Amino acid sequence: MVISIASGKGGTGKTTIAVNLALSLNGQERVQFLDCDVEGPNAHIFLKPDFYYEKPVEIPVPAVDEARCSYCGRCAEVCSFHAIAVIKDHVLTFPELCHGCGGCIRFCPEKAITEIGRHIGVVRRGVAGEIDFVQGTLDIGEAISPPLIKAVKRLIQRDQTVILDAPPGTSCPAVETVKGSDFCLLVTEPTPFGLNDLSLATHMVRKLGVPAGVVINRSDVGDGRVDRFCEEQGIPILMRIPWDTRLSELYALGEPVAQSGSEWKAVFLRLFEDLQRVV
Ligand code: SF4
Ligand code: SF4
Repeated sequence: MVISIASGKGGTGKTTIAVNLALSLNGQERVQFLDCDVEGPNAHIFLKPDFYYEKPVEIPVPAVDEARCSYCGRCAEVCSFHAIAVIKDHVLTFPELCHGCGGCIRFCPEKAITEIGRHIGVVRRGVAGEIDFVQGTLDIGEAISPPLIKAVKRLIQRDQTVILDAPPGTSCPAVETVKGSDFCLLVTEPTPFGLNDLSLATHMVRKLGVPAGVVINRSDVGDGRVDRFCEEQGIPILMRIPWDTRLSELYALGEPVAQSGSEWKAVFLRLFEDLQRVV
């Protein structure tokens, strides 16, 4: 089963839930953890994997041979991302805007465009205890993360329990991560911002056809509007985590609660059982 852990905004405790779920299942299930939050991966701080593999990820971008070019402008017309422009007798390319779709190459009548690779990040693989750990890290300043997330997801082992830590938000990186999951856990908090972003995230999972449930973090600090929203939308609330400074202290130390010999391991196992029932 592939479970994505997402949130409409950052700072809700998404990675905490993902890491603790993985650790709680470790030893009972074969667990694979994929850190798809490639702009700021941090699950390794808690799971402390030993990496044994690293692979660069590139996307194909156009290189124009102007000796063959007739400056017809077709390439610029087909590029939805304004990554190529034709100005009189010059073709300008903007590799940082290119999504590597290959459209300009396909439509160039003079076959004047070829592909070259542009490095956007790396995929690392390691082991954290018995957990198969995969992480994507986007290059600093790089804006195009979906191809890197795809490269991370290519390593999914569907015969294991796979946990995907999604990037925050509901834009392309989150969509790329969540799509194809068997279930999505949406982590939120009971505040107006939390509700707004949960509403956007709910819309995203519905569009993707992925069933979802909610975890309410800091469940005792806000009001009841998130509860009412979930009831109206028919989304199960699978876990509530009250505000507890001990949890924040452990987080600051990089120590997952499910490892500290506390009652939390049983709580996360219950979450997994409830989640399986919903699926
Ligand atoms: S489509 Fe090909 S020939 Fe036309 S301007 Fe672009 S590179 Fe040149
Ligand atoms: S490969 Fe696609 S995104 Fe990149 S420049 Fe060509 S048409 Fe634009």
